[in-house]
Amino acid sequence: MIDTLLILHLNDSHSRIFPFGPWTDDNKKLYPTVMRLAYITDSLKSLYPKHLFFHAGDFLSGDFPFNASVGRMDLKILKLLGINAITLGNHEFDAGPDSLYNALNSEDVYLLSANMDTTSHILKTKIKPYEIFNINSKKICVLGLTPSEFNDINPYQKPIRFKSPIQTAQIYQDTFNNLDCNLKIILSHLGAYLDTVLAKSTNYHLIIGGHSHTRIDTVWKVKNSNNDTTYIVQAYEHFKVVGKILWDLTNNKLIDYKLIDVLNSSNLSQYMIDTLNNIKSQIYSKFSNVYDDSITTIDSTISNAPDSIGCLDVPTGNLIADAMRFQTNSDLGVIETDILVYPLYKGKITSDDIFQMMPYGFDHQNAYNSRIYKITIKGSDMYNVLGFAQFIRGQSPVVQVSGFTYQFIPNVPMEVSDISIDTSQIYKVAGSVYTLYVASSLTPNIIAVETTNLNVFQAVKNYILSLSNLNYHSECRIKYKTSNYSEKISKLPKFKIYKNTIIWQDKEKASIYNLDGRKIYELKENEIYKLRRGIYIIKSGKLSYKILIP
Ligand SMILES: [Zn+2]
Repeated sequence: MIDTLLILHLNDSHSRIFPFGPWTDDNKKLYPTVMRLAYITDSLKSLYPKHLFFHAGDFLSGDFPFNASVGRMDLKILKLLGINAITLGNHEFDAGPDSLYNALNSEDVYLLSANMDTTSHILKTKIKPYEIFNINSKKICVLGLTPSEFNDINPYQKPIRFKSPIQTAQIYQDTFNNLDCNLKIILSHLGAYLDTVLAKSTNYHLIIGGHSHTRIDTVWKVKNSNNDTTYIVQAYEHFKVVGKILWDLTNNKLIDYKLIDVLNSSNLSQYMIDTLNNIKSQIYSKFSNVYDDSITTIDSTISNAPDSIGCLDVPTGNLIADAMRFQTNSDLGVIETDILVYPLYKGKITSDDIFQMMPYGFDHQNAYNSRIYKITIKGSDMYNVLGFAQFIRGQSPVVQVSGFTYQFIPNVPMEVSDISIDTSQIYKVAGSVYTLYVASSLTPNIIAVETTNLNVFQAVKNYILSLSNLNYHSECRIKYKTSNYSEKISKLPKFKIYKNTIIWQDKEKASIYNLDGRKIYELKENEIYKLRRGIYIIKSGKLSYKILIP
């Protein structure tokens, strides 16, 4: 007789506990989320009396339950689903570490993160490195890992920092061996790619992942540091699927793994319906009837991907950037492409449909999403702000815009060109807190910052109400710069930027200058140079490149 353990897992559910998405033929929202999910997981749990249920992080931020309760409603639902352990994800910080602490404290929930590196903040009292479950005299040990890549770039995460997750996992693997753990699991919020690196450099049995929203239908097998197999799984996003692992505890072997599509179940959980109705009435008392109102109706979907050949601007991005600009009487508008999540689907548009286009951010004054800031800068500084974008993203534009157009060369850092503004003029730019953060770290010359009384959601809702006809497509506000494009890529010098250093790896000699034109170093092959945070220009032969030390 083998001893079978059922492990259920979720990740990146992002507060989407209510039905959302496009309308179906019978006038319902396509994604029914936790009402159906609870029915599926409850049935499986009654079938397998030995079970565990995990969440690999990013359960917060994405819909009104988070904004209405700063996470308490989301934690209530996870508790009701019977989740046994949750990893601390990066979006858990979207309302700041104090708010996260308050939610965890009031719901009496602990999160797992073994690599959190801040001991002075009270949040530390609600974080554990690992959890051990005893099932039939077998020890199941579960380690939590959080990404460290947001230490310096997420203003909401401050002052919390994270250590290297891979080194941390190597240290705890010894701890788990000393504790005689039978099954060693990592509940990782590092993303699928880093999970494969993690698997190779450690010897855990199972990595249950999140963060990259990857749909792993067939288990990934990686040869680990003991020459054994480490299994990697991940369950997509937004409660659309749930992972189901069957593990043979007697022989410590994987029996079966699959993702269960929540859409394919027709049964609903009655207690979850009752709980959601209760939560809905609390949300309505704060934000009005956001799931059942009717703002307008549209005949065709406004896409969240480019819909004209050669254009890189996104229809929903154009709509949002226009709304931010016009509703705040600014000259220009910018919005991060990364925070555009869902299209505006055809049919009736509710407030929640508008929110789903760009749900991230948290406004401590009124609990809606990102507040709009009006940043006064010189036209020439827009090159720095937009250039930062291409440093991070490579092929897709980091910001969507209103009031101007621009071009860039994909995969060439900082190469933004042809911004259709007068570089000597002064502009008022409507942007989010992230735009402000990037602008203020890169341009010492911000002339003024005005905090408006609008957030992105309200601006878009008011703007839509003011339009008689809502119809948005790509207009080529953003394009690739085609001339010299391949030439520039083939001539891109070899160098690496690591923390506050640049490692020059090119045979060609070069010099590095600051933005004022002062030479800082002569660069020689395989030498390492220290630089302060900021933008620099490298000149090598006839070519010059901008780089950013983040
Ligand atoms: Zn994440």
